[in-house]
Amino acid sequence: MPGKHKILLVEDEVKLGKTIRDELISKGFFAELAVDGLEASKMFAGNSYSLVLLDINLPYKSGYELCREFRDQNKKIPIIMLSAAGEIHDKVEAFNIGADDYIIKPFHFVELFARIKVFLKRAEMPSTSDRIIVEDMEINFLNKTVIRNGININLTAKEFTLLVLLARNKERVISKQEIMEKVWDLSFDTGTNTIEVYISFLRNKIDKPFPNKLIHTKPGFGYYIK
Ligand code: CA
Repeated sequence: MPGKHKILLVEDEVKLGKTIRDELISKGFFAELAVDGLEASKMFAGNSYSLVLLDINLPYKSGYELCREFRDQNKKIPIIMLSAAGEIHDKVEAFNIGADDYIIKPFHFVELFARIKVFLKRAEMPSTSDRIIVEDMEINFLNKTVIRNGININLTAKEFTLLVLLARNKERVISKQEIMEKVWDLSFDTGTNTIEVYISFLRNKIDKPFPNKLIHTKPGFGYYIK
């Protein structure tokens, strides 16, 4: 996957920025570093990037402003905020400004690469519009809402990601391994029952109130939506 992907990294701590940029390059990505908000704006407008890594506290324009600006110009590009502890209080706050995820500094490169991989993979998944409709359920990626039979269903970020994975692959059985990789960014089965627990959370919200069920289990193989 690396190689063809160009990443915009916005970080005003030049030493840290260069370290991250060099790590990205060593993994085979094209990576460009912007060291302030104005430079980042110009670079984003003049280039085609696959993903953005965005610091929050920046000269001239904050990461928040940039995130909104980038999102206005490109609805689909994955944006991962690089946050110092305490800058972002929860994922909802990051989502509200249009970010896909955030990572708290200092972080391990292994963790950063795992997330980059997940988002690049996700961005490559076929998606023709900003929403998916399965029967009487509509999932909207832009405002992260799920409506079933006219009723707004509140999901946590993980539940939403899990539902999107199933819905984007309608009728395909998704293994627990694949769910672990794509929803939890883990490339191994942790041996815990996390996935079963989240599937049951989803069923309680998505299926329980309605007569026809959308989430199905294929015992021994995984889960699918139909
Ligand atoms: Ca900063």
